[in-house]
Amino acid sequence: MKDAMRAEIRAFIEANQDRLFRDIARLVEIDSVEAAPAPGAPYGEKSKQALALGLEIARELGLETVNCEDRIGYAAVGDPAGEKYLATITHVDVVPAGTGWKADPFKMREKDGWIIGRGVLDDKGPSVLCLYALKYLKESGLPLRYPVRALLGANEETGMADVEYYLANYPAPLFCFSPDANFPLCNGEKGIYHGRMISRLPLGRIADIRGGVAANAVPGLAEAWVRAEQAPAPAADVEVREEKGLWHLTAHGVGGHASQPEGTKNAIGVLVNYLLDRGLADENEARFLRLVSLLNEDSAGEAVGAAATVDPEQNRGRFGPLTLVGGVIGVENGRMFQTLDSRYPTGTSGAKIAAAVQDAAGDAAEVTVDHDTEPFYISADSPAVQACLEAYRLVTGEAAEPYTIGGGTYARHFPNAVSFGPEHPERPQAAFAGPIHGAEEAACKAWFLEALEIYILALAALEQLDL
Ligand SMILES: [Zn+2]
Repeated sequence: MKDAMRAEIRAFIEANQDRLFRDIARLVEIDSVEAAPAPGAPYGEKSKQALALGLEIARELGLETVNCEDRIGYAAVGDPAGEKYLATITHVDVVPAGTGWKADPFKMREKDGWIIGRGVLDDKGPSVLCLYALKYLKESGLPLRYPVRALLGANEETGMADVEYYLANYPAPLFCFSPDANFPLCNGEKGIYHGRMISRLPLGRIADIRGGVAANAVPGLAEAWVRAEQAPAPAADVEVREEKGLWHLTAHGVGGHASQPEGTKNAIGVLVNYLLDRGLADENEARFLRLVSLLNEDSAGEAVGAAATVDPEQNRGRFGPLTLVGGVIGVENGRMFQTLDSRYPTGTSGAKIAAAVQDAAGDAAEVTVDHDTEPFYISADSPAVQACLEAYRLVTGEAAEPYTIGGGTYARHFPNAVSFGPEHPERPQAAFAGPIHGAEEAACKAWFLEALEIYILALAALEQLDL
């Protein structure tokens, strides 16, 4: 039975693949970066156009479509209004092209079995894969216990307001997978805490201090302007220059994403330790900087006591250790501040982390909670997760176990959802293939077709479950 079905799926893929890649190329042509809202285009005109084209492609494939007020839309097999349904969720908006492309990022190119263009992998290609998975379900006449919706979001990269709108106005799917991550399957995301440490003490010798561009990134560069009689001696990773009667210090580290601090070196930590070692801060400043230094002793919140807030029993077998990173330092209203970004496992909370850091700060700083999202976790043993993993194992022949991450994806917005491919960072990449969000973003055509087979088999298996 399964073999006959797989042969049928492969024949379908063979017959449809040229058209499938042409449809991806059509979507890539639209530079769907979020822009200022316009009437009827809440995330900008291009994002709206990309959504409209995605739905048009779906109709060409024989699917019914629903446009949810130009914020998100879906193609459906089975009753498009059916409230007990399965879903996939992808997005048709993209990040800006940036520099470094060898050709027009919005004209999809092919090279040695790869396609290249902005959005081919994140997430226009996967969006088209989902539409073709639904085309197969429709044409095969497979009996459907649940209708299936291929949701196309138009605002993933800049805030995910699309799914928030959808879930506030439409019934949630029974189960949903999101092809917008790595294979095999991501069944959990750490909690995300953002806050600040704000100095209670005024500046003295430090005229200004700046570092980092985003709270969720480890900065590779940090600067300070200080008053001192004599030039401070430079260090291996700190440059010193005179500038308008002040000493301008530039510290270098190794930047990276806050959710994966391994291998990074926070330039703010380098700068702050230099200021403290050279005695360039007065006592008020030093009290705050010692706290920043403590934060940078490790990226696991150990030195400031945040790591200790995790209950290991509650987190058993789920997530890796807590991370705590200071992304941006600056001066506001004459006081230094340092942002905090923590990705935390089950067994703690943003409030507990902030309280631990407040203990470490004493009365030198006030610690705030500006944003807090709980961890999200779907049991690896749930039948829906197992159905997806089984489809992956069957097609790839690989033993596959689910993984958890420190980032935030679409999946965490839904009551019952996982991220499910189609990226394969563990496989050797073509030398010319660029990453998602980077120049020369590329996707391997054969891996896409393999992913399509996996998605079809997974949906067929999910149809068999009591959800
Ligand atoms: Zn994406």
